Amino acid sequence: MTLTTRFAPSPTGYLHVGGARTALYSWLYAKKNGGDFILRIEDTDLERSTQASVDAIMDGMNWLNLEWTHGPYFQTKRFDRYKEVIEQLLASGNAYRCYSTAEEVEAMREEAKEKGEIEKYNGLWRDRTDYPEGQPYVIRFKNPIGGDVVIKDMVKGDITISNDQLDDLIIARTDGTPTYNLTVVVDDWDMKVTHVVRGDDHISNTPKQINILKALGAPLPEYAHIPMILGDDGKRLSKRHGAVSVMQYRDDGYLPEALLNYLVRLGWSHGDQEIFSREEMIELFDLTGCNRAPSAFNTDKLIWVNQHYMKTLAPEYVAEHLQWHMDDQGIDTSNGPALSEVVKVQADRVKTLKEMAQISRYFYEDFDELDPKAVKKHLRPVTVEPLNVVKSKLAALSEWVPELIHDAINDTATELEVGMGKVGMPLRVAATGGGNSPSLDITLALLDKDIVLARIDNAIKVVEERIANS
Ligand code: GLU
Repeated sequence: MTLTTRFAPSPTGYLHVGGARTALYSWLYAKKNGGDFILRIEDTDLERSTQASVDAIMDGMNWLNLEWTHGPYFQTKRFDRYKEVIEQLLASGNAYRCYSTAEEVEAMREEAKEKGEIEKYNGLWRDRTDYPEGQPYVIRFKNPIGGDVVIKDMVKGDITISNDQLDDLIIARTDGTPTYNLTVVVDDWDMKVTHVVRGDDHISNTPKQINILKALGAPLPEYAHIPMILGDDGKRLSKRHGAVSVMQYRDDGYLPEALLNYLVRLGWSHGDQEIFSREEMIELFDLTGCNRAPSAFNTDKLIWVNQHYMKTLAPEYVAEHLQWHMDDQGIDTSNGPALSEVVKVQADRVKTLKEMAQISRYFYEDFDELDPKAVKKHLRPVTVEPLNVVKSKLAALSEWVPELIHDAINDTATELEVGMGKVGMPLRVAATGGGNSPSLDITLALLDKDIVLARIDNAIKVVEERIANS
């Protein structure tokens, strides 16, 4: 039998980091065991489900490169099958028509509450067959009376729930549509899911699902309930904490490798190792190694992981992701250095690709204005001479390479008997528009010689204006 896991999101919003982590753990566990990973869209809530959400979820999965082997299946396409199973449960005496009205059910709960009993349906219609003509009814599952349900959870260990705690839950509404616990059971059964990996917010559904599976004579899957993700304030992670949508992390400048690596560690560990390639994750991950307690999201750590990957992944690959941000920021990269060269010099200077794009604009575009602070500090009247001298030396270079550029700057400083900085800083402001850049010889080499010379002329003009105005 093929080990099979699934990710079963309800398409009522984007793919958030909690969902992505659940998807990742399911995917990893399948991959690790040479199994299948199913994507199932649980879209039975017609009012809240949207195609835009389906697209957003698949975009997120694609961006993270969590490819599914089967699906996407849509629950709304499987209503006939659910109906069939509901009929089967009715026929085998494991379900019954319930004609109690909402008010009556409410009254039963109230009564139970007053008696200090568990608030649930009292089973009034459990064994009746005197169906009133033309009245609406729901279909309830006949939960076993007495005994326990044991969840053998791979993360949390054994959890025992007494059947008396469980309600005869509704499996079909008055309009005949199936409810969540029924559809999940039928799907997990039909799709031969062997391992249900999901958030522990579903743990209260598990005993109900186990009882229905048993009533159907279906094999029970293994369960792994993953604790939730908290924000840095200890509360459940939500929009209040900033980005929660996976695609927002792309927009904010994170590499998918970084988010995946961060998410795998958020709730699972392997010694004190922090960095895991995809291959390593697949090899080392295990559901039994997951934390039982919730984990807190830590943006600083995500940034650290992102920096690691920007610096260590192939620059050509990082450049593909950087290209997205250059486009996003309207920077035309068709003329200028190869983006992979920019990655090489900028990767250790930023936290995100978004920032990398922001500080790399000068490689591709002239700037209208120089950073006023840098001008004030570095383009003082005394810099006209060094700028002129270094310009003529740069202009005379036989080859536009870092070594010769470096010599030209060095020779200028020696000739004028000033420190390197007195030449380098004005030149940096001239060439890049500001006081921060990677090493100057490499930065200039990445720019066109003509562009650098023109930018020096422009800076000289700025200094001369400064002199004229003082
Ligand atoms: N559709 C459910 C949700 O999005 C998940 C159900 C399951 O994993 O069993 O929360």
